[in-house]
Amino acid sequence: MLRFVNYDIVFQEVPGEVTLAINISNCPNRCKGCHSPYLMEDRGEALSEENLAVLLEKYGNAITCVCFMGGDAAPQEIDNLAAFLQRKNARLKTGWYSGKTKLSPDCRLKHFNYIKLGPYIEQLGGLNSSSTNQRFYHVVDGEMVDMTYHFHKGN
Ligand code: SF4
Repeated sequence: MLRFVNYDIVFQEVPGEVTLAINISNCPNRCKGCHSPYLMEDRGEALSEENLAVLLEKYGNAITCVCFMGGDAAPQEIDNLAAFLQRKNARLKTGWYSGKTKLSPDCRLKHFNYIKLGPYIEQLGGLNSSSTNQRFYHVVDGEMVDMTYHFHKGN
């Protein structure tokens, strides 16, 4: 069972969306220079359909997107929860920030509107660095369209 440590409403992580970003613990990626080392510990509340429903009840009208930040320890669960969100509120977009280089075969693109891939590599920087290895995709008609450039405007 995945767990989440906290969540926040954010504006930068998914361009053009008001996003409820859910920070998931037990990250297996162990990136050197990780922005949030506490996310490597297995802690927090269960990331269950019940708890997601509570968050939707509270914030559903204020947001346009829900993004899972992490969850590489159990990608099948992320896929199931994204499908649950789609069933629960068809208006909301779904996103996933994964630290893996490739999308897990356990995840089906039809359950996501946005996908970020790639570990954090200190010398290359995060998404807002023009030298980053990370990629941010908009899923359009079942294809992953690279829109990483959105994070470099104004650099
Ligand atoms: S994927 Fe993110 S949370 Fe996990 S170790 Fe890397 S930077 Fe930290």
